[in-house]
Amino acid sequence: MELQVQHALNWIEKTNEKIQTNKDYLSALDRAIGDGDHGLNMARGFQEAVGKTTSSSYTSVSDIFKDVAMTLMSKVGGASGPLYGTAFLKMSMAVKGEDSVSHERFTKGVEEAINGIIQRGKAKEGDKTLLDVWTPVLRMLQEQSDFEADSLENTAKSAMESTKDVMAIKGRAAYLKERSIGHLDPGSVSSYYLFASLAEVLKE
Ligand code: ADP
Ligand code: MG
Ligand code: MG
Repeated sequence: MELQVQHALNWIEKTNEKIQTNKDYLSALDRAIGDGDHGLNMARGFQEAVGKTTSSSYTSVSDIFKDVAMTLMSKVGGASGPLYGTAFLKMSMAVKGEDSVSHERFTKGVEEAINGIIQRGKAKEGDKTLLDVWTPVLRMLQEQSDFEADSLENTAKSAMESTKDVMAIKGRAAYLKERSIGHLDPGSVSSYYLFASLAEVLKE
């Protein structure tokens, strides 16, 4: 299958729903090892993103991702805004030129998104950041030749859960050193919502 304009619109809306529902939870996670604003940051950003995408009309997935990127970059303070913004901008560029997006193109987009996140934040997999979800998701996508909703959901979920046992090397949580162990990484939880939402959209 291909990711169509309507899939991409639904993806952003569903992600926003999960983030709004879990806004307090995300902030509580960030209160434990950061500054307590991750839920607020993401809720503001995705609410604005949905405001933009639902009031515009699109002929390509790329343009949707671009609007999401611009909105997240301009409306979200904190580390997560520029990082998610960069991710969507890189995905937008990678899928440009076609109305809908093949599995192969999407996989390339996720790879470019990760490169952008690394370029900006200088983290690597295992540093207890959202890369700990994005990177296993990329590996899973690369192993498959078509979208597989269940493995996407499962991979993102177990990757998110695995951030609990890890010591933070990057982001605010890194200040806590060993004391960051035993807590989930907030950005990995919001990234899990992102990919779980995509999995749900793929099943519709
Ligand atoms: P801030 O830390 O500025 O308050 P948020 O609370 O919104 O921003 O986002 C924190 C999340 O951002 C972390 O949980 C982590 O997943 C992610 N993050 C922080 N720094 C980096 C980085 N250098 N590279 C990748 N992800 C990062
Ligand atoms: Mg924070
Ligand atoms: Mg902050």
